[in-house]
Amino acid sequence: MSHTYVTGFPRIGEKRELKFALENYWSGKTDFAEVEKVAATLKARHWRYQKEAGIGFISVNDFSLYDNMLDTAVMLGAIPQRFQGLEGEALYFAMARGNDNAVAMEMTKWFNTNYHYIVPELSTSDSYALNAQKIIAEYKEAKKEGITPKINLIGPITFLGLSKRTDRGDTYELFGKILPLYEELIKEIALLDAQVTVQIDEPIFVKDIDPKVLSLIKPCYDALCTTAKNVDIIVATYFEHAVEATKVLVHTPVWGIGLDFLYGKENMQVLDVIANSGKKLIAGVVDGRNIWKNNMETTLALLEHLAQTVTKEQIILSTSCSLLHTPFTLAYEEKMDTEVKQWLSYAVEKLDELALLAKCFFDETLSDAEKKAYAKNIADNESRRNSTRIHDKAVQARVASITKTEREGVYEERIAMQHAHFGYKPLATTTIGSFPQTPEIRRARRQFKKGEIDDATYTAQMKAYIDECVAFQEACGLEVLVHGEPERNDMVEYFAELLKGYGFSENGWVQSYGSRCVKPPFIYGDISRPEPMTVSWITYAQSLTDKPMKGMLTGPVTILNWSFVRDDLPRSEVSRQIALAIHDEVDDLQKAGIKIIQVDEAAFKEGYPLRSKNIPEYEAWAVRDFKLAVSSAEKDTQIHTHMCYSEFNDIIRTIEAMDADVISIETARSGNELLKIFAKVGYRQEVGPGVYDIHSPRIPSVDEIVEQIHKLLEVLPKEQLWINPDCGLKTRKWEEVKPSLENMVKAVKVVREELGI
Ligand code: GLN
Ligand code: ZN
Repeated sequence: MSHTYVTGFPRIGEKRELKFALENYWSGKTDFAEVEKVAATLKARHWRYQKEAGIGFISVNDFSLYDNMLDTAVMLGAIPQRFQGLEGEALYFAMARGNDNAVAMEMTKWFNTNYHYIVPELSTSDSYALNAQKIIAEYKEAKKEGITPKINLIGPITFLGLSKRTDRGDTYELFGKILPLYEELIKEIALLDAQVTVQIDEPIFVKDIDPKVLSLIKPCYDALCTTAKNVDIIVATYFEHAVEATKVLVHTPVWGIGLDFLYGKENMQVLDVIANSGKKLIAGVVDGRNIWKNNMETTLALLEHLAQTVTKEQIILSTSCSLLHTPFTLAYEEKMDTEVKQWLSYAVEKLDELALLAKCFFDETLSDAEKKAYAKNIADNESRRNSTRIHDKAVQARVASITKTEREGVYEERIAMQHAHFGYKPLATTTIGSFPQTPEIRRARRQFKKGEIDDATYTAQMKAYIDECVAFQEACGLEVLVHGEPERNDMVEYFAELLKGYGFSENGWVQSYGSRCVKPPFIYGDISRPEPMTVSWITYAQSLTDKPMKGMLTGPVTILNWSFVRDDLPRSEVSRQIALAIHDEVDDLQKAGIKIIQVDEAAFKEGYPLRSKNIPEYEAWAVRDFKLAVSSAEKDTQIHTHMCYSEFNDIIRTIEAMDADVISIETARSGNELLKIFAKVGYRQEVGPGVYDIHSPRIPSVDEIVEQIHKLLEVLPKEQLWINPDCGLKTRKWEEVKPSLENMVKAVKVVREELGI
């Protein structure tokens, strides 16, 4: 029997072939046949990699041209009304990306990863019908390549749990409509082979699970498992423990249960029930969402521990989740430091880890090459444990001796001093930081990185941009200015490159959504800041104007949440080290005369744990580290923060506890509805709710913004409000930004006149 199992494999391609094929097709450069050709090549190659590594359970239908949730919606015929009349690829991509007549379906984060899925839209009045064509075709393709694959499906309970109903009702009410389609699907699958294995992903089981959802599990899996005798069903869970669901699943006829033993340690609690059930345990022991080389000693010890309760015959070694969340292969990392590189393992390398672990665990005789590979694994881990590049005594000593953890002065005292210092009026105007990233500045950054232009040329180009940016803001009448962030490619990568302890890849792309990929930097060692990171840019910008210039930093929690993080130190400790680096930058900025500093926490919410039980701990250190990062700010230095969302209902007290003087948020698309929570809880600090949506090229009119400000004034007093767009402007064009901001400033003038300010 096969001992090794891969939950899913990345599909974008080792050179992002799928991305380029899709984008060429979307822009009309190629036709759809070309996309299909590339897709077929990639699938076959990915199956081959897994087969050659000796993986037993290889997937089909982990592939997608855009997203698996979208595929599932299409499979079930859950097509929103506005796309009726379309079919095939036109329909599929219209649902994903919108077209001239219909807006795209909503997209949202897949659990606590940086992958985003398309949110299916369901309605009780729609009728659904199965279309299993994609799955059947992929199965046959794999067979042609000499693979007998398992079929990956998103489970009905997760599908419903992550969908939304157009009338806002409970999606689970549609369970009775959807389950029969899955049964039909299993019947079709049963015809494919003498025996077929199906992996049904139910990651929703790892969240807080309510009794109603729990009550669906048994009927659902009793039904699916008895639909066809020759189909073995595995329920896969990942990212956290699934103890409650597992206790139910063992009483259904499922063949196996997939549990994550890296991010869901509580899964240990269900070993005995699994042992008694005799079911297969698909044990997630190779990290599917991080880039570190497996520590085989530790993993084998973990497996032996499992085997004290569950028999070895029951255990199958698996990735902890789909490898979709890791980069593809280290093969193209040619520039990476060799010491650091030997600590890493991407998707392709993880296949070999699984295979070797299985050989060791199941006492198979190792070949000489395998013995060598095992010895190398031990040595590489040893090297990582002891490297001086990881352990920085000075950083550790500093963390151990932190005494000042927050700013001096309570908010009321500070804000009074800040008003005295800056003398700004109610409804003060500002922006969130970035201005349009033009092709010219992108090119200059690229050339500088490659060494094609020298420092002086580069700096001159950036300064020229800042000149223009400041001149525009002054002419427009904005009150608190920014330098525009031309030197930043990305709000995390920019800082990562200037911090010690960070590594970078050339090709470590991970799919974020559709054809989009991100290349997160990785934290391998203790973090420190060798020298100031932003001071020269910001002080240059300040030298151009008498208006206050807002310094712009990224906060520790966001830097952490958008990086691959070392696994040999708790995240909370890594976050604290980053906070100290930001603390020093805040101090250097204020010493250089910059007295308004924004510390962005765009990804604060992304780090929230999946289980509510773990939330207090996260909130405690996340707030602690934001406060530490700004603890160097004097009382009359005004600290702003920015968050890219507006649903604060559950976390408003936590946001308040961060104690920023001003927070800008993203309310533009929701009128004043989402702002009400601030009034409701008696939020004291100043707030800048975005008055127009920067995600659209549309230019808001003066009247529209006036109306929006009126709405804000229904909720919060003018003294507490700032007026700004709802996020950074870097993705927009100058032609859009200029008139929009001019209208915003005019609108403020109108409202101030009305109010006699
Ligand atoms: N200061 C950043 C910018 O304006 C903030 C971006 C963000 O919140 N995503 O681009
Ligand atoms: Zn934002």
